[in-house]
Amino acid sequence: MNLVLVVNAGSSSLKYQLLNMDDESVIAKGNCDRIGIDGKLSHKVPSRGIAIDEDCTFPTHTEAFEKLVEVLTTGEGRVIDSMSEISAVGHRIVQGAEIFDKACLVTEEVIDRIDALSDLAPVHNHPHALALRACTKVLPKGTPQVVVFDTAFHQTMPPKAYMFGLPYEDYKDLHVRKYGFHGTSHRFVSQCLADAMGRDIKTLKIVSCHLGNGSSITAVDGGKSVDTSMGFTPLDGIVMGTRTGAVDPSAVTYVMEKRGFTPHEMSQYMNKKSGFLGLSGVSSDNRDIQEAVLKGDEKAIITSDILQYQIKKYIGAYAAAMNGLDAVLFTGGIGENSWEVREAVCENMDYFGIKIDNDLNRKTRGKLTKLSTPDSKIEVWVVPTNEELLIARDTLAVIGK
Ligand code: ADP
Repeated sequence: MNLVLVVNAGSSSLKYQLLNMDDESVIAKGNCDRIGIDGKLSHKVPSRGIAIDEDCTFPTHTEAFEKLVEVLTTGEGRVIDSMSEISAVGHRIVQGAEIFDKACLVTEEVIDRIDALSDLAPVHNHPHALALRACTKVLPKGTPQVVVFDTAFHQTMPPKAYMFGLPYEDYKDLHVRKYGFHGTSHRFVSQCLADAMGRDIKTLKIVSCHLGNGSSITAVDGGKSVDTSMGFTPLDGIVMGTRTGAVDPSAVTYVMEKRGFTPHEMSQYMNKKSGFLGLSGVSSDNRDIQEAVLKGDEKAIITSDILQYQIKKYIGAYAAAMNGLDAVLFTGGIGENSWEVREAVCENMDYFGIKIDNDLNRKTRGKLTKLSTPDSKIEVWVVPTNEELLIARDTLAVIGK
């Protein structure tokens, strides 16, 4: 078996999937959660219907990774005899900035460089570096590790798309620019779409809408990202579960002044208390918003309307930016499952020639499906994302397997 372990580390969690790359099936998956607090392991072996939940002690990422090794190799959840059976480990890294434009092999220097980017992504990159060091300590010597970056796919954006109207020194000295995120997902789903359409991706202009708790929309022209809605951080773009999306920068300084927030407090306010949650007062979860819409909740209706309107505007803007549009795709928890959002986005788009089969749309959930009618000028698809699989594929490609 050709096994790849995919790791997605956060500040207090270490999510993982063990994939058999012979048939790309998931052998085991789970999460070592509450690192630095107490510790909780949840581990699943789908083929045997096993689900283990255990209280643990995870003072640091190292103990969490040691537990992961233990649960994979011993006891009821065991799926391998030893970690030496694993071909490689692939790590998801949020911020690669302008240094990393593709996946690469992990070395001490690579870990240091990822850590050095923590200034740009404090919530993500330092925990990634901690997890990389923990893995290196715990894994058998010589196990290759690969890092796959959320930002790498967007490194093809031209300066006109990634520069802000700030003084040039802020770009040169502080590296302030649009980086874009969800790159692994946008790359995966746009290739899946091209395959489903039976077209070479090099000939396609696609707007990829990844809509989840965090959402981003990307213009993919000929298989390359040419623009994307998230920016310097994943806060920019469209309204999200708890994040604002784009706001006039003056509104930010105004709210800080009026509410007496420090920069950190303002950042928390915009990242954790805004978006669907702050607007609706109902929830950060799209399902709750749609339920409240049905009950006539006014703030939920506004929240839902804003989301749909902003997605529409990006589709229009990116069609103009690419001078054409062949297909729009929906992915992520909302994009794959929420017929309400998809229907509203595609409504009144006849100027563009977008027409979807509403009955089919209402029935479609989490499955690769073409929603557009045969006479629609632009194809509309639901394309389930699978970032872990693409990380595993990239990992094997980097180690030359
Ligand atoms: P993350 O960005 O954390 O990966 P997901 O991609 O899992 O998030 O998306 C979570 C969002 O998807 C939530 O807002 C949730 O309400 C929405 N969602 C999941 N399932 C459904 C569904 N069946 N109908 C509508 N929305 C859904």
